[in-house]
Amino acid sequence: MSNETTLTGNTKLAKSITSPKKFIVGKGILANISEYIAPFGSNAYFICDEFIVERAASEGGDSFRDNGKKATFEKFNYECCQTEIDRNRKLARKAGADVIVGIGGGKTLDTAKATAYYEKLPVVIYPTIASTDAPCTSIAVIYTDEGQFDHYLFLPGNPDMVIADTEILAAAPARFFAAGVGDGLTTYFEARACHRANGLNLANLKSSMVGVGLSRLCYETILNNAIPAMRAVEKKISTTAVEETIEATIYMSGVGAESGGLAAAHAIHNGMTAVPSIHRVQHGEKVTFGLLTQLVLENAPQEEINQVVHIIKAVGLPLTLSDLGVDHFDEKEWRRAAQLSCADNDTMGNMPFEITPDDVFNAIVTADAIGESYKN
Ligand SMILES: [Zn+2]
Repeated sequence: MSNETTLTGNTKLAKSITSPKKFIVGKGILANISEYIAPFGSNAYFICDEFIVERAASEGGDSFRDNGKKATFEKFNYECCQTEIDRNRKLARKAGADVIVGIGGGKTLDTAKATAYYEKLPVVIYPTIASTDAPCTSIAVIYTDEGQFDHYLFLPGNPDMVIADTEILAAAPARFFAAGVGDGLTTYFEARACHRANGLNLANLKSSMVGVGLSRLCYETILNNAIPAMRAVEKKISTTAVEETIEATIYMSGVGAESGGLAAAHAIHNGMTAVPSIHRVQHGEKVTFGLLTQLVLENAPQEEINQVVHIIKAVGLPLTLSDLGVDHFDEKEWRRAAQLSCADNDTMGNMPFEITPDDVFNAIVTADAIGESYKN
């Protein structure tokens, strides 16, 4: 992900740790949500995905009424665009809201972040899928009304509170949970590379020890929990392993990446968005292939590759290009992806050594072949 900045010169030499003010992980939170939100406001404006708006209004609404507080529940209109942000700003103002809450997928949460930012109100984020580490970050991705990427909105701070309700997250389709494991699996390797390179993190400051340490804990937590967690999520139930995996994929990965920095895996992911046949693939699925490619670039120890591949296979993440849905390898497309991943404003520059588009292309081809070799 590219990063705009207002910092110059010496300010970039400082290190940073940025994170949500509060992170809550547990089950059955919706029914008591007003108590969790109370420190931030007493008149909440909820932006909810369609599938959950009624449940949120009845369960969550009861919790507000029982405590003598006010809440308004609005259905999200499918796109995180300026029109939708402005619509919600107006409604939140009309309701007299003093806190904004987003309940849903990434676009809903980003709309809540942006609405709160423009209205100068605290924001509470309640993801309904655990597919990326975006909930905890201080970035919102803004699209046009037609759904084309428009710009990143870099917010001055992270959400005031992120709530991971394991019951809701475990009941979502298992593919989302696996994608989150993929996004979380890469965090340590990218933060490690960025720190070695003395590179810039997502706050555009130097990678900090906490960023690297937390990303390391994220990796260890995934190694220990992701496989049993996946088996539980396939049955739509939550266990301790699910809870610990969610703490890793939503909190540790988000804070680890923002404070520790990204490197090759996400840059390769961004390059891969230029390949039309994989447009519909989940972010975390593409990032997983980006990680295998980064490990080839680093000439990582065999043991490390074995460990990563073991998790990828066991949670059902794509291991090869054909798993990603590439049935015809168009060299021109992939050379272009490699070229894009080395763009100046991307994070390939956070690798501790020089990498050319040729190196990336060769690593992509090799990672695919290594992935194939693990299938038998
Ligand atoms: Zn990511």
